[in-house]
Amino acid sequence: MSLLDDWLALTLDGSAHAHQGELAGGRYRTLAPGVLELTPTRPAPQARSVVIAAGIHGNETAPIELVGELLAALEAGKITLGAPLLVILGNLPAIRAGTRFVETNLNRLFRHDLAAEGDEPERARQLMQRVDDFYARHPARPLHLDMHTAIRDSRYPRFAVVPFTEQQPTSHWPALAGAGMQAVLLQHQHSWTFSHYSRHYHAAEAYTLELGKVRPFGANDLDALDGMAPLAGMPGRRAGARSG
Ligand SMILES: [Zn+2]
Repeated sequence: MSLLDDWLALTLDGSAHAHQGELAGGRYRTLAPGVLELTPTRPAPQARSVVIAAGIHGNETAPIELVGELLAALEAGKITLGAPLLVILGNLPAIRAGTRFVETNLNRLFRHDLAAEGDEPERARQLMQRVDDFYARHPARPLHLDMHTAIRDSRYPRFAVVPFTEQQPTSHWPALAGAGMQAVLLQHQHSWTFSHYSRHYHAAEAYTLELGKVRPFGANDLDALDGMAPLAGMPGRRAGARSG
């Protein structure tokens, strides 16, 4: 039985229930629908506290498939958990419907003074709370990777967006280039995205990663995203991490 893989599938079909278990190097537990925390038994030296989010826009499926590969590799023991990790599937009803959002764009709602009501604002509040709790438990060198795919064709299919901050952004662009990102965009004003949230409220290193064009499940070219694997501490697909 494949618990982590099951979690992804059951979460997407709406039948997931709370569970927890062990995996190579640590344990995992669900904190909310679409929110999974993985905690290493012994964090690696210099381990970072990592939030990986996918499906903040429901029709952006490639990142969800990448999350599936990451969980499968962890479960199979191909990689060992070395850092605290919070895995988030963002807009579950939109993922199920295959749409960008249901009522409103979730990726504009991540602010503490959010006043809007409705399913997506409620989800934003839930995710903000989970991220706050996670970084409170694991404050070391916070990193937030918010994975998306773009609506339009782009000259650079894979690029990173650095959220605006008053502080000087810490630069890990060599790592981004190593992950196959072809360009970096710096935002010049606050935009209340999920990655901005972690940057703004938690001083995390945070990126919105655009990983090519929106496609349905199964139609994504994950090989083109092979460079993403090292960011998550995984061997690349061509190095044998392919989970099928
Ligand atoms: Zn998106």
